[in-house]
Amino acid sequence: MTYKLFIPGPVAVSEKTLRAMAQPMIGHRSTDFIALYRALTPQLQALMGTRDSVYLATSSAWGVMEGALRNVAREKVLCCMNGAFSDKWLDVARRCGLEAAGLQFEWGQPVDPAALRAELAKGGYDAVTIIHNETSCGCMSDLPALAAVLREFPDVISIVDTVSSFSAVPIEKDALGLDIVLAGSQKALALPPGLTVLSVSKRALARAATSPTRGYYFDLVEFEKNHEGGMTPSTPVIPLIYALRSKLEDIAAEGIPARFARHARLNRTVRDWAFARGFQLFPREGFGSVTLNCFANTRGIDLPALNQKLKARGFVIDGGYGPLKGKTFRISNMGDETDETVAELLAALDAGLTGIKYTSH
Ligand SMILES: *Cc1c(COP(=O)(O)O)cnc(C)c1O
Repeated sequence: MTYKLFIPGPVAVSEKTLRAMAQPMIGHRSTDFIALYRALTPQLQALMGTRDSVYLATSSAWGVMEGALRNVAREKVLCCMNGAFSDKWLDVARRCGLEAAGLQFEWGQPVDPAALRAELAKGGYDAVTIIHNETSCGCMSDLPALAAVLREFPDVISIVDTVSSFSAVPIEKDALGLDIVLAGSQKALALPPGLTVLSVSKRALARAATSPTRGYYFDLVEFEKNHEGGMTPSTPVIPLIYALRSKLEDIAAEGIPARFARHARLNRTVRDWAFARGFQLFPREGFGSVTLNCFANTRGIDLPALNQKLKARGFVIDGGYGPLKGKTFRISNMGDETDETVAELLAALDAGLTGIKYTSH
């Protein structure tokens, strides 16, 4: 049985994207590849708000999240934590042998700029990790406010995960002074998983060049050197790069502001639907994600039963991440969703909710 994913990654992939991937291979050092690679750069730069290079890494986001640390962290890393992915980043830093501290907030609370300033002011940090949009609990932190704090600490290199916000909301890497910004293919870009886009500031590259622990596969200096030649350091996942080209055509046709507006509108539609049915947003008010909604299961719905009924109608949503399983549910509005496809999902949800057991309300 096939069904359409409304989980917050991977999200549904269009027929056009699937067809774009099914093309003959080209050599990754060929002029055809160089032309393909170079054609992508301007639009990726526009989506990331940067004039720096944008690299293509063949791995899921975690590869680059780990690799970036090994390139720029020297003495001590500060990991801002407010959900499953940002919590994990502290663990990953320690597994890399780095000294790392966590700036912890409850899941669903945004990263607090004043707390970030107070912690960095203690000194000793040379890198910081931040997740813009904590997908696990649907919480979007105020990136411009956090970036303003980071600019007060010019020796601290920032690594910013925009995995589930890139291409859906404005990311102004250069204007905000962010150092490393990265995003995975299977979230708002609505491509299959396996490709990560990243951009790196000049000062982060300079830091990387002095790092003895940066390894090879995620060596940012290698990425920059190869980028100048229109290539990647190692053989990239060429089908996904075809898919990215196809997606960037779609984005150009829609227009970036219209794309941002569509995500905001669909997010609102889903939120209004849930509010009208007695659910509340899980994250703190004002910090709900624009690319997904994480609702508190305030009605005590039997979520696995709901998903079974949804699947029969051709859809699936997320029944809560890790410790939030059963307590929250998440609905993505990333990627190619439209007013029509969201309306179809909400109609299926309404049908599914009739006769479903709940424990409160
Ligand atoms: C999905 C996600 C990741 C992890 O991506 P992988 O593709 O599993 O490596 C990291 N950060 C955020 C915010 C995510 O949503």
